[in-house]
Amino acid sequence: MQSFRSFFYFPLLSLLLLPCCVSSDISQSPYNIHDAVGIKNIMPVVVIGSGPAGLSAALYTSRANFKTLVIEGDEPGGQLTKTTYIENWPGIKRMLGKYAVDVVKEQAASFGTEFLADQVISVDFSVWPFIVRCRSGLELRALSVIIGMGATPRYLGVPGEEKYWGRGVTSCAICDAALYEKDEEVVVIGGGDAAVEEATQLAAYAGKVTILVRKARMRAVPAMQERLKNYPNIFVKYNLEVQEILGNGAVVTGVRLLNNVSGETSDFPTDGVFLAIGRIPNSQIFKNILDLDSAGYIAVSERSQVTSVPGVFAAGDIADPDYKQAGIAAGDGIKAGLDANRFLTALGLNEQFAQELEPMLFHPEKKEEDAQLEQINSVEQLEEMLQVSDVPVILDFYTESCPSCLQMLPKIASVAQKFAGQVHVYKVDAGEATDVAKHFSVRKVPYLIVLRNGEKALELDQEMSEQEIQNLFEQLARESEG
Ligand code: NDP
Repeated sequence: MQSFRSFFYFPLLSLLLLPCCVSSDISQSPYNIHDAVGIKNIMPVVVIGSGPAGLSAALYTSRANFKTLVIEGDEPGGQLTKTTYIENWPGIKRMLGKYAVDVVKEQAASFGTEFLADQVISVDFSVWPFIVRCRSGLELRALSVIIGMGATPRYLGVPGEEKYWGRGVTSCAICDAALYEKDEEVVVIGGGDAAVEEATQLAAYAGKVTILVRKARMRAVPAMQERLKNYPNIFVKYNLEVQEILGNGAVVTGVRLLNNVSGETSDFPTDGVFLAIGRIPNSQIFKNILDLDSAGYIAVSERSQVTSVPGVFAAGDIADPDYKQAGIAAGDGIKAGLDANRFLTALGLNEQFAQELEPMLFHPEKKEEDAQLEQINSVEQLEEMLQVSDVPVILDFYTESCPSCLQMLPKIASVAQKFAGQVHVYKVDAGEATDVAKHFSVRKVPYLIVLRNGEKALELDQEMSEQEIQNLFEQLARESEG
């Protein structure tokens, strides 16, 4: 009798205690799990973003046996893949930023997380299961969503910046540093850790690197500033604000600077301008859908990653106006994963119900073995190719250290296969085949150049989705037929 009593009373007692132990936002689900039955392309957990926050969240949800899909976005791995070494990830003294995310990705995959190379363009959180729309046209339904979409580089907003973007103005030193040579000089704008990081990456390629800081001191932590002493070709100048990016119509030639102490303006010649002036959260698609703060960061409740919509969680730089550290993003991602687990449990997603959903779950297509593109290594080789080509030619400029380039290459190769004979495509390693990059004034990757009859007809300086690549090929094929 005694044992029956304790068996009976314990759950009753825990039920009474539950609301005070678990955040009420999570334990009292406003949704009915039965509404999820029979809906196509459904997922218990959709994680948007594949940086340390998204991947850590996915590790925790998939390890708790909740089917998890990570939508990787245009920059798989996020900002960490654009830095070289990180020295402040607890437990590992020094490692490549890319290694840090690759390992967590592998770990999440080992627990069943699936990955989709796509970009989320809009969401509807007014219906449940939530709607998540991707650039490819795919529409997913999600019982819970974890947002880890990070932040993107801030722009200066000065004349010339847009015009010379990709023609000497850029924000990714690790991608584009290899396009500079010892007889060239570059400037880095900014005074934070990122400015130091970019300058040291550039110092290995460009002859001279000047960091232009708008205040009388740098914001970078002392350890980072100390690092600069090891680079005799890095110089720092203070109290200078960029007023304009100057160019010759084709590429950057300098920056117009205001000395905010003396009030004087002067022109500073340069071959490249690297922006490292902070980042802004990628929260535009959540405006009027989730509560954001005045700077656009997603508001989360103090001790959790719960957003203003039950079942939606946010972590990492998109929800962190203060710390912006990879380790914090990973930690907050873990919290978001745990929050989602609690939410799904409270919703009633148990093993039996998961089996009911199973036939309608979304699974990303398994990609065929990657198609390969032919490589151009020199201007002479390109000229030979052009002589025998009577269809449009696409040159896909990339570097081995550019994550978005490496993501785009297989997509282009796969579409190119379908258009064989109608469009010719070659890849060019802009860091190796520097004469080809110079010939076309390529200062940024990924960069696509379309040639018709050997003449430059079109330039595209942004990462493209498979659908956009397909559209481009279709247009070129139509034109060459006509
Ligand atoms: P920060 O916000 O730390 O620094 C931005 C810098 O850009 C500041 O010096 C700021 O000047 C300057 N700035 C902003 N707007 C302008 C403008 N219009 N013109 C000129 N200068 C401008 O951003 P970071 O990207 O450097 O760093 C973000 C976070 O990432 C930090 O927490 C940092 O620690 C971390 N990080 C860590 C790295 C590592 O450990 N390896 C590498 C890179 C980043 P002001 O000071 O006057 O406001």
